[in-house]
Order: sequence, then C-alpha cells, then structure tokens
Amino acid sequence: MDAVDTEKLWAQLIRAVETCQKCDLYKTRTHVVPGEGNRNADLMFIGEGPGRDEDLTGRPFVGKAGQLLNKMIAAIGLKREEVYIANIVKCRPPGNRVPRESEAESCLPYLRRQVYLVRPRIIVCLGATAMRYVIDRKASITSIRGQWFERKGYWLMATYHPAALLRDPDKKYDAWEDFKKIRDKLHELGLKP
Ligand code: URA
Repeated sequence: MDAVDTEKLWAQLIRAVETCQKCDLYKTRTHVVPGEGNRNADLMFIGEGPGRDEDLTGRPFVGKAGQLLNKMIAAIGLKREEVYIANIVKCRPPGNRVPRESEAESCLPYLRRQVYLVRPRIIVCLGATAMRYVIDRKASITSIRGQWFERKGYWLMATYHPAALLRDPDKKYDAWEDFKKIRDKLHELGLKP
C-alpha cells in the first residue's frame, strides 16, 4: 500500500466515523472523537470513549485523565505525538456511562480499521472496557493487567484507566509497573534507542 492509498483510506475512515449513525450515541454528541496521533506509531493506546472535554473538542484524552496519560507517556520517554490514541466508542455516552455492548459492537469496525492502518507493534488497553473488547470478554482488569498477550503479531496489554488512577491513587504503583513493562517491550523490540 503506498502513501497515497493509505491517505485515502484514512480520509474514508474519518468521514465514515464523522457521519456515523450506527447507534444512538450520534444523537447526543457534540463532536465525534475518531482518535489522533502518529499514524505510524509503534504504540497505540485504546480508551473507553470520549468524556465531556473530548466531546467538546473532538480529541481523545484531553481532560484530567488525558493529562495524567500524557505524564505517563512522558515517563517512559515518549511524547504524546509519537503514539496513537483511540477509543472503543467514538461518541460520548451520555453522562459518561459505560458504552453498551451494542454501541461498542457498532463502533469496533472503526477501531479494527485504525489498528490495521497504524499497524502498531504494541496495543495498550486503558481500563476494563478496552480490555474487554480487545483482549478478553470475560477477564477482570485486576487479574490480567500487566500481562502480555501476543495475537496476530500484536503485543497486547491492559492496564488501569487513568481515570481509575485519579479516583484511587493506590493503583498508581501497579500502573507504573505496567508502564515500565511497556518501555521494556519497546526496547526488546528494538523500537527505542
Ligand atoms: N476516557 C476515555 O476512555 N477516553 C477518552 O478519550 C477520554 C477519557
């Protein structure tokens, strides 16, 4: 696939997301939040869905949880612009409720397309919702966080959602352990100097 084709596929994807009416979340959104970052990233983060700040700006992880995520990315020696950040659902669930399974299922083809186009080596699921739809439908975040799963050439890991760390700072120690594993995996794969 050459650069022109890739560019076209991204444009098609973003247009499809922006005009999507596959579930009812489009009715209450201000902006869709397709995702952002380096489209050739080695590392991709997947969250749950836009919150209030994201709905207002059209950008993922820009509120308080996003600021913490930025710090955690910086702590492993990367800039936010170097990674790609997306969500399970691209429209804000009213009141920040957890997306319904039908909403997640409607939206997942967009995320699969993003993963296909970015082709990251490592995918990190932030929180239980992303873990559920990307790694394991039945697992609990506390039991599988920090573990690596290799699937179809991708290294997958789940860790706590930054919003959970803000609610319960005791979880920060474990989250930092997970981020160190991400840093080590990047080194192991020869993706960091
Ligand atoms: N929480 C998420 O899961 N995603 C965002 O984009 C912002 C907050």
